[in-house]
Amino acid sequence: MSDVEEAVDQEFAADRSKENVVLRVEDLQKTFGGLVATDHATFDVERGTITGLIGPNGAGKSTIFNLISGFYQPDGGRVEVNGVDVTGMEPYEVADHGLIRTFQTPRKLEGMTVREAMLVGPRNQPGESFVNLLTSPGSVGEAEKRNLADAQRILEEFEIDHLATQPATDISGGQMKLVELARAMLAEPEILLLDEPVAGVNPTLRNKLADQIQRLNDEGTTCLLIEHDMDFVMKLADPVVVLDQGSVLMEGPPQRVQTDSRVIEAYLGGDA
Ligand code: ADP
Ligand code: MG
Repeated sequence: MSDVEEAVDQEFAADRSKENVVLRVEDLQKTFGGLVATDHATFDVERGTITGLIGPNGAGKSTIFNLISGFYQPDGGRVEVNGVDVTGMEPYEVADHGLIRTFQTPRKLEGMTVREAMLVGPRNQPGESFVNLLTSPGSVGEAEKRNLADAQRILEEFEIDHLATQPATDISGGQMKLVELARAMLAEPEILLLDEPVAGVNPTLRNKLADQIQRLNDEGTTCLLIEHDMDFVMKLADPVVVLDQGSVLMEGPPQRVQTDSRVIEAYLGGDA
């Protein structure tokens, strides 16, 4: 065995020695009926990183996001955000601790325009201040004005500002993904969980999305990124955590993960 292979072997599990951890996932477990979707999953996300979360279809990536963000209750284990135990909290409470996530399949935003959909951030309920802004602009504060300006800027950067007043249910799947990302960005999270942000998005917008995620990270937002598009995730993420059958298979820099025989085997064994 070469030195490199030995070093990789010692890295079989996730790196738990990080000092500045913004998200800690500890021994998480989730079963659906007889199916083990999350199997003692343990990893940490270091502040300031874009950490990739990859693995074959059905590996349990989306389930982990649902467990972390409070949409599913774990059967065991623990989730910490900024050192606070958020296990079992409601999604809005987890969001209040600075963790915001996007959905692989964006939720339907019935009865809202694209702009309204963006402004009803994950920390706000429909009908709260952002929507007041659109109906009674005289009554809003500086923060809301800034949010409206930010929403406009993001719409322009994604070149979907012409869609601002269209019903949010009328836009394409790819455009929907952009709106989903934009609304998560507006919440100014400390850590942003992105579930396949470029699935179904055309190559031009894909590059724009990559730029936006990179910019957000440069400005200090930590990201945990699930993405099926290997080029996309390998370009943006370091380190990359590999999930297989609900457990962490390994963690490492993108180049090392891509060439690791166990990872290749996991992908070949799956239906990816
Ligand atoms: P990935 O995102 O890595 O493709 P998922 O987390 O979506 O994987 O799914 C992992 C496994 O858990 C799959 O076998 C899936 O069918 C199952 N699963 C996920 N969510 C549910 C659910 N709500 N009810 C039942 N089974 C589920
Ligand atoms: Mg998924």
